[in-house]
Amino acid sequence: MMSSPVSVAASTSTPTFPAEPLVCDILVAGAGAAGLSVAIGLAKSGFSVICVGSTQTHPNGRTVALFEGSLRYYKALGLWPALRAHSAPLKEIRIIDATGARMPINAISFASREIGLPAFGENIENTPLVETLAGIARDLPNLRLHETLLKDIDFQSDRVEVILADGTGVTAKLIVAADGRASLARRKAGIGARTWPYPQVALTAFLDHERPHRFISTEYHTRFGPCTLVPLPPLDMHPHRSSLVWLMSEEQAKRRASLDNVLLAAEIEDQIQGSLGHLSLEEPRGFFPMSGMKVSRLTGHRIALLGEAAHVFPPLAAQGLNLSLRDSASLIECLEDARAAGHDIGAARVLASYARVRRSDIDLRTDGIDVLNRSLLSDFLPIDFLRGAGLAAFAAIGPLRRAIMREGVLPHGHLPRLMRQPVDAVTNSSCP
Ligand SMILES: Cc1cc2nc3c(=O)[nH]c(=O)nc-3n(C[C@H](O)[C@H](O)[C@H](O)COP(=O)(O)OP(=O)(O)OC[C@H]3O[C@@H](n4cnc5c(N)ncnc54)[C@H](O)[C@@H]3O)c2cc1C
Repeated sequence: MMSSPVSVAASTSTPTFPAEPLVCDILVAGAGAAGLSVAIGLAKSGFSVICVGSTQTHPNGRTVALFEGSLRYYKALGLWPALRAHSAPLKEIRIIDATGARMPINAISFASREIGLPAFGENIENTPLVETLAGIARDLPNLRLHETLLKDIDFQSDRVEVILADGTGVTAKLIVAADGRASLARRKAGIGARTWPYPQVALTAFLDHERPHRFISTEYHTRFGPCTLVPLPPLDMHPHRSSLVWLMSEEQAKRRASLDNVLLAAEIEDQIQGSLGHLSLEEPRGFFPMSGMKVSRLTGHRIALLGEAAHVFPPLAAQGLNLSLRDSASLIECLEDARAAGHDIGAARVLASYARVRRSDIDLRTDGIDVLNRSLLSDFLPIDFLRGAGLAAFAAIGPLRRAIMREGVLPHGHLPRLMRQPVDAVTNSSCP
């Protein structure tokens, strides 16, 4: 069932609120990967949606590795055919201890075929991901992409009244905050957030290399965090490409930011032990200071948080957007169920059901990544020992090994409807 398209309503009583606001079921604040993904999912489910935010992407050498659940989400919504040309499958993950620990662990490999999958997931560049989603969003009849920022929100008992930066007014039954880590919508709703810094910066870049990646993602664990190579698809005359996410200290980042591409490529080649042969850097590169964030609540009066408005952690184990798409799939399911039962989609008990299904997954990922990251940063012998023993146990004990792999690509517990259908698109990947 499809709600009526976005329309113009009668004037409201709020003096500062525009006299002729746009009306929709749901306003999504934020037009990044998380905001666009949830907006498209909600619109395809039949809600009338306005998504506000800038779709401008700033190329920065960043990719996202999307695992089974995320691929199921995009496939179920019919979005994967448009995205797959920009992606490369991840068939194996290797961990190499480059910490210089007193008890180093042997290299560990995990292969997707061990858990019956042709690949753990697909690695896709951020810019085409957001641009493709924005293009799809523009074409959906009951989704309006309004490319301006949200400025103010007034939470009324039966609706939210939103003012955009260009003066447009919008009324909605619910606001979905996907406006990133500094979320204005979250602050306007009075939802607290605790943030903390890590003494690390992530350097991101795309690399051309001499030897093929063979669809293997390799993580070199250093004392400053992992240096990770993830397969990319070929581009024009460049058959062998990978993306780099290299966590390093703030001083190292400052020094490496001043290096030219040739000198930086030599340092990367050295860090990855020449495993891909000679390499060169594509433009541009990015530097991202690392931090973490937890929110006091996932919902408030007529508002639900998702994506980086709800959780932030460093890019270890490639979990950020994967977690956000699980937020999206769960929220869509809660709202569909509420609509089917004839309930108000912005009602407190509807939003409580979303918070209930998402809280433990979010806490588990945020805390797990915090522990893993801090264990790498510490050279305290007992912590080194525990990290080494833990990784060795994962590698050696078959059932534990498979359980960890499955948990990484498709977490246990409640699976929202949009993620229940297994993916076959990975098998038919466009990559050689
Ligand atoms: C180096 C690095 C590597 C990563 N690798 C992976 C990976 O491999 N796999 C993975 O799953 N995740 C990964 N992540 C995490 C992933 O990139 C993020 O989780 C994801 O991009 C966040 O998307 P988002 O839409 O929540 O936030 P953002 O991308 O920050 O989008 C928020 C949007 O809201 C908009 N906005 C802000 N204020 C307003 C306002 N007032 N009104 C309207 N709009 C507003 C912004 O303009 C922006 O477009 C990585 C992150 C980093 C830094």
